[in-house]
Amino acid sequence: MDLPTHFAFALAAGLVFTNNPEVALLIALGSLIPDLDREYWFIPKKIYSDEQIHRAGLHNVFMMALVYLISPYLSLGIFLHVLQDSFTTVKDRGVEWFYPFTRLVKRGRLDCEGNEQPLDPKERVYFYQEDPPGLAKKADSDLRPSYDDNECRPVPWRRVYGFAQNSQILDRSFLIGSIAVILVWFFAPGNTFHIGTLMEVRSGSYSVIGVGFAAILVLFFAGEVDRRGHNPKLGRFNFAKYPIFASGIILLGVWGALMLDNIERNLRTIFLSNPVSVIMVAIIVPLAVFGVIKWKTRRGREGIV
Ligand SMILES: [Zn+2]
Repeated sequence: MDLPTHFAFALAAGLVFTNNPEVALLIALGSLIPDLDREYWFIPKKIYSDEQIHRAGLHNVFMMALVYLISPYLSLGIFLHVLQDSFTTVKDRGVEWFYPFTRLVKRGRLDCEGNEQPLDPKERVYFYQEDPPGLAKKADSDLRPSYDDNECRPVPWRRVYGFAQNSQILDRSFLIGSIAVILVWFFAPGNTFHIGTLMEVRSGSYSVIGVGFAAILVLFFAGEVDRRGHNPKLGRFNFAKYPIFASGIILLGVWGALMLDNIERNLRTIFLSNPVSVIMVAIIVPLAVFGVIKWKTRRGREGIV
């Protein structure tokens, strides 16, 4: 879905559920992160489309877990973003929630037209259905899989798809609905929030969040220059992507340094005061996933994930 939709949705959810503008802005900042995998980052276009990095590289649960170590609120923003993208179609490339492990499941049980495929004795776990190439090839040119024909064939990525198109009715409904919720939150009588609360929050923390937003937006801008650089008409501006990218990375470093106290407190909370959560994540969750796959494949080689 579009970036303003992700931003507004995360901000609205943050304001309503936390009643704290500082926290809500962190959630909204997190919701901008995943689409950085749309940018090429100097990867040749062919590799980018062969590997289908967008909606995979930063749109996955491992990214959420990693960012959770920096801030749970940023991680929640990423989750809300990925959740919204899951509503989108094959054409918009859905979401690969468990990338890179999704690349280990080699085949779909059904081919791209929904016909049952013969089972391969070497494969234990199957995905439900192969990508319909007709729809995948309708994606934007930089997201289109690079094979030339419409033939049914196994592809190496395993994604979830929904029913909604980018920039169409559901995307716009999320955006308008979220803006309405934000306005109600600010102005509805009876709301426990007062405009004065905005001032009471340490003003310093807003400037830290501001640096975070600046870093992400500059990185988006560098990626955009890189993407447009592949267009012959705009190619001469391509050199600008390097200094812009470097500025984005420097800003990201500054933001990280400003967040250091928060990150340290967060890590201490996770690893020292609450070891149960670490045990849950590191031991119980992988065991549970392993158990489910074992159970699903117990009657032979027919498990579907
Ligand atoms: Zn996205």
